[in-house]
Amino acid sequence: MTDCLFCKIARGEIPTGRVAENELCIAFRDIAPQAPVHVLVIPRTHYRSLSDTPDGSILAAMGELAKQVASELGIAESGYRVVLNTGEDGGQTVHHVHMHLLGGRQLKWPPG
Ligand code: AMP
Repeated sequence: MTDCLFCKIARGEIPTGRVAENELCIAFRDIAPQAPVHVLVIPRTHYRSLSDTPDGSILAAMGELAKQVASELGIAESGYRVVLNTGEDGGQTVHHVHMHLLGGRQLKWPPG
């Protein structure tokens, strides 16, 4: 999608702190980090939310990349959280499906 922020990031039109990528996805630092490690994992292809992904392959690729980034950024052992805010009640503000990878501190539960 031409006017989607995360599509622009995926195409390299907006600079970000890219940390990793695979064939289907890219991972980059969140602009407003909520934890010492806060990375977003997005598919290169535009899907509005998790509900719009066609099958499990996208989620699998996102999960694999999140796992790799957690390991590379040193939080695999201490632990981390992955979150997919979905739709209005889920708190999704950017409508290109994305996985938050959060870690580097003790995270609270439940979320607000
Ligand atoms: P959500 O609220 O789940 O839709 O998450 C959207 C996330 O995108 C937020 O955590 C924002 O801080 C993040 N974000 C928005 N614009 C940018 C950007 N240009 N680069 C990196 N992260 C961004």
